[in-house]
Amino acid sequence: MSKQQTDDAVGLPPAPANPTTLPSFGGLSIDFSSDTSVAAPYAPAPLPDLAIDFGGPAVAAAPGGPGFVSASEGRTETKLLIVGSGPAGLTAAIYAARANLEPIVLAGSTPGGQLMLTSDVENYPGFPDGIQGPDLMALFRAQAERFGTHIVDVDIDRVDLSSRPFRIWARGVEYKAQAVIVATGASAMWLGLDSETRLRGRGVSACATCDGFFFRDKEIAVVGGGDTAFEEASYLTRFASKVHMLHRRDEFRASRIMVERARQNPKIEIHTNTEVEEVLGEERVTGLRLVDTETGVERQMAADGLFIAIGHQPNTEAFREWLELDAKGYLVVRDKTNSEIEGVFIAGDVHDHRYRQAVTAAGDGCMAAIDAERWLESQGITEANTLTAW
Ligand code: NDP
Repeated sequence: MSKQQTDDAVGLPPAPANPTTLPSFGGLSIDFSSDTSVAAPYAPAPLPDLAIDFGGPAVAAAPGGPGFVSASEGRTETKLLIVGSGPAGLTAAIYAARANLEPIVLAGSTPGGQLMLTSDVENYPGFPDGIQGPDLMALFRAQAERFGTHIVDVDIDRVDLSSRPFRIWARGVEYKAQAVIVATGASAMWLGLDSETRLRGRGVSACATCDGFFFRDKEIAVVGGGDTAFEEASYLTRFASKVHMLHRRDEFRASRIMVERARQNPKIEIHTNTEVEEVLGEERVTGLRLVDTETGVERQMAADGLFIAIGHQPNTEAFREWLELDAKGYLVVRDKTNSEIEGVFIAGDVHDHRYRQAVTAAGDGCMAAIDAERWLESQGITEANTLTAW
């Protein structure tokens, strides 16, 4: 099927020859005019309508990426240090800053978390018309900075949580903090195809809850053979006319009941021994090139979207030596946001593999900041007068 035929078949207008605003999922408009490079998908898009100065180019060409602030320009000691700058980390920063904790956020060299890879966000409360993921994170960041948060866009190298002040090193600079919130998030795993990267946010997604809505009456595919893939496929049948499940083996990791349910769902078709070799499409996904892992035979499949559901990787590297991990590699929390080390708190997807939503991560960040503040007060590090400061 030609591209034009595919467009007609799904009821979308043909893509313009040289677009700045592309036809998007379900006919909604996504403006990629400021997306200067697909090679640096984490870089925040410039925000012409928001007066936020990231202090650098849109693409992370300079060390530290956009918004990099050298340690010599800022503080390196704080009552509360937050590692991570997704919804959990920046919400924690907003609350901590408003409680006069003057937090430092070590935001990572690709700040903003998973929402930086998302286009339309329509389930974050307060934005009835939706908002672009990078724009939402720029607002979080501006709000945190407004109340005095010092944000440094660096990756951490190592930590020492053996005694207080806790010490964290990032690009050779030592930071000291009386309390720490770990909000490093989790990263979706991807197949690693160039075409998959190029079409991310243009039909390729790793979040059915976020993007399923855009595929009403469309034919789509889900990659993976675990519980997530089956759960996402089932969820996507609410919108899609057909969901193809593509799994590289003929046995599934998913629980039997999930597999059985999918088999009985007339909208789901399961293709075993099937790998995606290429995602087809210029401006958005139009199909897939597949290969049979047993016979090596290639074929093409028409599809308007591709959901990758092959697992998430929690970002725990620097903390593994100090904090407990569960069987899936996520940090273990005790009593809401506490870790086993007093003064070290945990928030967001780095421990939560159940909900994984921006709004739940933000709520978690809020709780971690309140718990950190109360703990700092209990230690006499801050005055006990901020409980109403939130
Ligand atoms: P899993 O690790 O369980 O499954 C990942 C799947 O992706 C596997 O089938 C794997 O194939 C496949 N895969 C991995 N890498 C690739 C690749 N490069 N190319 C193609 N396929 C690939 O991850 P899930 O996210 O599904 O689940 C994580 C955990 O969360 C599990 O313990 C699961 O039970 C749990 N969970 C529970 C849910 C529930 O109870 N409702 C819902 C969702 C998750 P292969 O099998 O060949 O290795």
